[in-house]
Amino acid sequence: MIAEILCVGTELLMGQVLNTNAQYIARRLCALGVRVLYQSVVGDNEKRLEEAYREALSRSDLVITSGGLGPTVDDITKKVAARVAGKELVVREEAAQMVKERFGQYHRKMTENNVSQAMFTEDTQILFNPNGTAPGAIVPLLDGKFIVHLPGPPIELEPMFRDQVEPWIMARTGMVLCSRYIRIFGMGESEVDMRLQDLETGENPTLSPYCSLGEVMLRATASARTEEEALSLLGPLIEEIRRRLGDVIYAVDSDDQGSLARAAVSAMRDRGLTVACAESLTGGRIASTIVDIPGASEVLRGGFVTYQTQTKTQLLGVPEQLIDECTVVSPEVACAMAKGAREKLGTDLAVSATGIAGPDGGTPECPVGTVYLGIASRNGVRAHRLQLSGSRDRIRTLTVKHALHILRKEAETAPAMT
Ligand code: ATP
Repeated sequence: MIAEILCVGTELLMGQVLNTNAQYIARRLCALGVRVLYQSVVGDNEKRLEEAYREALSRSDLVITSGGLGPTVDDITKKVAARVAGKELVVREEAAQMVKERFGQYHRKMTENNVSQAMFTEDTQILFNPNGTAPGAIVPLLDGKFIVHLPGPPIELEPMFRDQVEPWIMARTGMVLCSRYIRIFGMGESEVDMRLQDLETGENPTLSPYCSLGEVMLRATASARTEEEALSLLGPLIEEIRRRLGDVIYAVDSDDQGSLARAAVSAMRDRGLTVACAESLTGGRIASTIVDIPGASEVLRGGFVTYQTQTKTQLLGVPEQLIDECTVVSPEVACAMAKGAREKLGTDLAVSATGIAGPDGGTPECPVGTVYLGIASRNGVRAHRLQLSGSRDRIRTLTVKHALHILRKEAETAPAMT
């Protein structure tokens, strides 16, 4: 298959926008074994766009466009493609529904010209746009060639290409695509990037990082004729990543649903371990995040929300004197909370959190963001100090993530109970 990329937009010609879509599509096509022999950029001009389509179709099997799917008069990509295909644009009900739903979701009012975003030729395969209002399209032509339309904003184009166009191309070329998701906690994005930079430029497999609060996820993808072949391309890459990053990798999954909670629950479940939570600043969120994982009932026996100081004594038996001597945000109290929860519920493990989420309550010795996590097991109890920063919500969310991370590590080193 020979493909050609045609990016539409005067802003690209004028150098106001860097053409990252062409680079993205070209890299992905290359990984899929599709040859790209030409790329071009055309402004929002019907005559020149028509010429560009005709020229591209004279030498390629597939023309992929980016941009110009909006509702305004200068959004001409589909209209000119239909003319080249010799077909009419009509309102397609499924596309109209998609556009309507998007507007509803964004609480935006639809204007009359938005209807044009739902207009395609009768035989067009419509592509869902989860990140914007303009659906994409795969337009078949009479001679067995195709035009694929993608929206301009990269945040819309990339997932649409990855999730809908790639499988379509693979089905046509007989290729399969395999991905592995490498999940990292405890190392920042720039450090990960520094260590893996050279691996991120590969074409097959490809490696792309995605970041969320405190975490980095890497998606490694290989394409090949068979799944085995694709997996054998991924194997050495994943080994190399493990070698460079070590134990900050907490999971390598075959889907993108992985999380610290899932890793902690499976580590405990695999070893037949049970857990209890004793939470102050997280107010039950550690337990709740564990409960989000199907199968949590096998490991989580229960939890205590001991927010006020006296509740730590009432529910967990933390000695008042200890709190007076060490203060409530201290390693000693974190340990006593974890120990108390483990004893009360008779679990193998217990995790606790006490800290200052802010915005008030910090002192020079114990500023906002100071958190102690306790972890109790039959090997004893110990505390970890965290010094976090940011908003109250950020501090609480990061505390939950650290607690799950510590829990997983403890479970992995604990002897199996079965
Ligand atoms: P919309 O519905 O948002 O109008 P569209 O499909 O009509 O989408 P355009 O109006 O052509 O897309 O482009 C919207 C924005 O997308 C541009 O302002 C630019 O920021 C970005 N964009 C467009 N084309 C490219 C490209 N080739 N590379 C990178 N960014 C692009």
